[in-house]
Amino acid sequence: MKKVLIVGSGIAGLSCAISCAEKGMEATLVSPFPSERSQSVLAAGGINAVINSGETSDSIESHIEDTLKGGCFIAGENAVKGLCESASDILRWLVKLGTVFTTDSDGSVCRRAFGGQSHRRTCYCGSATGKQIVTALVMEARRYEGLGLIKRRLWTDFYCTLIRDGVCYGALFYNEATGAPEILTADSVVIATGGQNALFGKTTGSKSCDGYAAGRLFMQGVELKNLEFIQYHPTTMATDQKMMLVSEAARGEGGRLYYEEKGKRVYFMEDKFGENGNLMPRDIVSRCIEETGKQVFLDISFLGKEKILKRLPEVYELCMKYRGIDVSKESIPVSPAVHFFMGGIAVKNNHETNIRNLYAIGECASIYHGANRLGGNSLLAALYGGKVAAASIGSRTFEKRDIDFSVEHKEASEKLRSMRESKSTYPVMYIRDMLAESMQENLGIVRSSEKLDKGLDDVSFYLSVADKIHYDSSELAYFGYSLPGILTLAKATLICAKSRQESRGAHYRSDFPDTKEEWKAATIISYDDGKYRTYLDTEGRYEN
Ligand SMILES: Cc1cc2nc3c(=O)[nH]c(=O)nc-3n(C[C@H](O)[C@H](O)[C@H](O)COP(=O)(O)OP(=O)(O)OC[C@H]3O[C@@H](n4cnc5c(N)ncnc54)[C@H](O)[C@@H]3O)c2cc1C
Repeated sequence: MKKVLIVGSGIAGLSCAISCAEKGMEATLVSPFPSERSQSVLAAGGINAVINSGETSDSIESHIEDTLKGGCFIAGENAVKGLCESASDILRWLVKLGTVFTTDSDGSVCRRAFGGQSHRRTCYCGSATGKQIVTALVMEARRYEGLGLIKRRLWTDFYCTLIRDGVCYGALFYNEATGAPEILTADSVVIATGGQNALFGKTTGSKSCDGYAAGRLFMQGVELKNLEFIQYHPTTMATDQKMMLVSEAARGEGGRLYYEEKGKRVYFMEDKFGENGNLMPRDIVSRCIEETGKQVFLDISFLGKEKILKRLPEVYELCMKYRGIDVSKESIPVSPAVHFFMGGIAVKNNHETNIRNLYAIGECASIYHGANRLGGNSLLAALYGGKVAAASIGSRTFEKRDIDFSVEHKEASEKLRSMRESKSTYPVMYIRDMLAESMQENLGIVRSSEKLDKGLDDVSFYLSVADKIHYDSSELAYFGYSLPGILTLAKATLICAKSRQESRGAHYRSDFPDTKEEWKAATIISYDDGKYRTYLDTEGRYEN
């Protein structure tokens, strides 16, 4: 029986594990936390699919066109075509597994308008789409667990992959219970570790998504792609805990953005782009908010309490619970915050990386979203990517090889020991916080060569001390050993942003404000013994 090791148990990891089990393969799902605590459960707005009910003027061609256009024409056409064509089957699969979508009185799945899309095609489960999908997938995974086809390992953190001669044979983990490294071998390894939120201070996402796996793989020879494209969500609300997302659905239902000047409201998006101005793509809205230099508000009060409670209950609850704002009477103070990563691990259309038998899926992989992602496309991409990777692994035959990985095991044991004994004065969490501050400041919505250089100086300094840091034994060892990988990813991201001398999608350079035809391709970055090398993938090396 083929063995598949999946690192990360959010929606992408679950989708892959179930798809492997459906094909009779044995999948081991590894993560520090249960799926119910993955970032996927935060998804509220919905998932895109063209379905034949209600408004029927929508088409798969239109979904493909919107996705390519939203991504500023640097996502691979064939990959996007596969994604959009599969959407309605994926929706049916989710329904079959027990996901409860919101329906109209005639029983057809409701759809809402989302930014940058020509039709209402975002299907949703009340205000808890991610939670509903995770619950259904977990139930199915448990069923396969009972059949012995899925194994779930918790409290286990990724350390590195086990690679020989360009082929992956498994991965090394840090076992939180024993405090020791542990090797798991498999025919294929699938990385599904989510985005890189912890690299930034203000984020709508989970800080347990720190990009370490992508950073460490990069150091092991895996190429990364389009790291400079980071999506800021335009409407987030500051709370004591984090930046809370005020769903795009609020603008989809007619919400209006404005700021106040001399006691009057200025509806700046409508002034600039006409009546649909509030629903422009996220990068444009975020930049326009930043340009106002003022506190911006989102008004949905005119919808009335009844409609708000019916259509946007999560927005009502969120604002009331965290800020005591009654949105049926008052406007919401909003500002942009880091939300989604279009860039990540470079994968071909079957989701394999440049290392054989090593795959990446979900938000940690870069393939469908180009320079900007449409709301509702990432849940779809996470589910689809899991299925595509499982199909590719299922179609392969694997050679059995007995390889000795004691060198990697010994090196990890030594690293953990030396960290505990280190006496330096730089605590790990302090450096993580400083990094987040610097990234926020220097890799924001509007970038410039000067700021990117400042960011690079900061990260280079943190990297120079990363191996000498004091490891406080009350902290999880993971925070200590992951630091160099996280910093390396941060440096690679800044280098990609500096290398792209144009503005496109979510990447805006004040010193290169125009979009240029010669930059219409993905950025690839590789690492070789401390050297970073970028190139533009004009030949579409990853688009097959
Ligand atoms: C607030 C919010 C709202 C959103 N709303 C929508 C929406 O409405 N529609 C939409 O399409 N998208 C939405 N998104 C984006 C979407 O939710 C994510 O892109 C998607 O869920 C990512 O799924 P994933 O499985 O790739 O990653 P995740 O769900 O982030 O899962 C990552 C997994 O990897 C594990 N992991 C992380 N690091 C390690 C490590 N070092 N070792 C081992 N395991 C590790 C984690 O524990 C977790 O199990 C939203 C995102 C946010 C933050």
